[in-house]
Amino acid sequence: MTDLLNLPWHEAKAQASGEELRAASLAAIDRLNPKLNAFLHVARNGGDGMPVAVKDNIVTTDMPTTCASRILGDFRSPFDATPVARLRANGCRIAGKTNLDEFAMGSSTEHSAFGPARNPWDPSRVPGGSSGGSAVAVAARMVPAALGSETGGSVRQPAALCGVVGLKPTYGRISRNGLVAFGSSVDQIGIITKTVRECADLLGMIAGHDPLDSTSAMNAVDDYTADLDAGVRGLRFGVVREAVAQLDGEVRANFDDALAVLRGGGAVIEEVSVPAIGYAIAIYYIIANAEASANLSRFDGIRYGHRSDRAKSLREVYFESRGEGFGDEVKRRIMLGTFALSSGYYDAYYGRAQAVRAKLRADFDAAFSRCDFLLTPTTPEPAFPIGAKTDDPLAMYLSDIFTAPANLVGIPAIAIPSGFSRDHLPLSLQIMSPHFAERALFRAANFFERETNYWREAPPA
Ligand code: GLN
Repeated sequence: MTDLLNLPWHEAKAQASGEELRAASLAAIDRLNPKLNAFLHVARNGGDGMPVAVKDNIVTTDMPTTCASRILGDFRSPFDATPVARLRANGCRIAGKTNLDEFAMGSSTEHSAFGPARNPWDPSRVPGGSSGGSAVAVAARMVPAALGSETGGSVRQPAALCGVVGLKPTYGRISRNGLVAFGSSVDQIGIITKTVRECADLLGMIAGHDPLDSTSAMNAVDDYTADLDAGVRGLRFGVVREAVAQLDGEVRANFDDALAVLRGGGAVIEEVSVPAIGYAIAIYYIIANAEASANLSRFDGIRYGHRSDRAKSLREVYFESRGEGFGDEVKRRIMLGTFALSSGYYDAYYGRAQAVRAKLRADFDAAFSRCDFLLTPTTPEPAFPIGAKTDDPLAMYLSDIFTAPANLVGIPAIAIPSGFSRDHLPLSLQIMSPHFAERALFRAANFFERETNYWREAPPA
């Protein structure tokens, strides 16, 4: 029955009933989840229809939302996040809630209070993060699609490390109503699927303005599948000079092979400069953590989840509940973010980071005046062993070096499988486009997928 889950969902739907799809998905989850730890909750009931997994920082009424944190305990939302409600309205079934780094802070899913998720290509390695559970669920063929969230790369990076397609849409394209906030000026819900067409379909279901999210865009929802087969002849792709200058070895060779595929389809490839891109990681970790320190102040031991029994006063309720409930990485982020916003340091850190962010945006605008798309690898290396970076936060933070710029600038970007490393671990190409050009992004990505077909190989698990 897992064969059904190897097919793009259009084909699966043509061959099987909703009941059969649900049974196949549940059987795959029961078989693989004990080993891969992708799901924190599995829906046994619920309707039939196309199963979609949802990262456990996006609220659903029928299952808990934990953000992989002890502080939320078994918190249950009284409402469905807008994208979840739209999925249900389109006949999808929420298959379960997936594992993540606590509050989406991380690049490996090792910072989960419920243990790490594992990479189906090699379970001794990380699946990436923070939407690691969602990427594993799709890569291991437990579900055809999953929602994740992005603040600095948390959909594209795990999609890359697990060999599946990951989209971060334009900031504001998908409602954030019901997404537990991390960095509000960079957060965006993203989509993980096996193929580009499934991703385009799913975006069409959930994109669009939502009066419940004041930052959601008014722009009309495009027909995202309209140009899938239009090819890349004459389209201009800019290779980001500053990013590829640092590449070597198999990631470089794989990236060059990807350029050759696009060139073969008649694309024009040229080098372009994005001078401020080298500052992206520094400014991302100031801005995201500053915003996180404010957003996470709502977890106070009073309104939601865990409350310490040791507390004897109101002040102690805050201190003890937060001390017991948050993990080390979350505490590190709150301290860094609070410091960056503190009186006397605000101008030096947060203010400056915002200024450089404006410069980065201007650099991207200039680059897009010369080309339709920008290219980099999605990640600087394939999946690393579990434990390799847990004692070195800076090394972990550098996993987002190619993904964080798109979040800071608000543009859409897609990660697409581009082959395998020597150890047969997935590698990935990142394509970025101007704001709201998702339709063009799918066109380019679908051309690449059709030429290469890497998605057809499922992991051994
Ligand atoms: N890895 C980055 C971080 O730790 C990005 C996380 C995300 O996109 N949610 O902040």
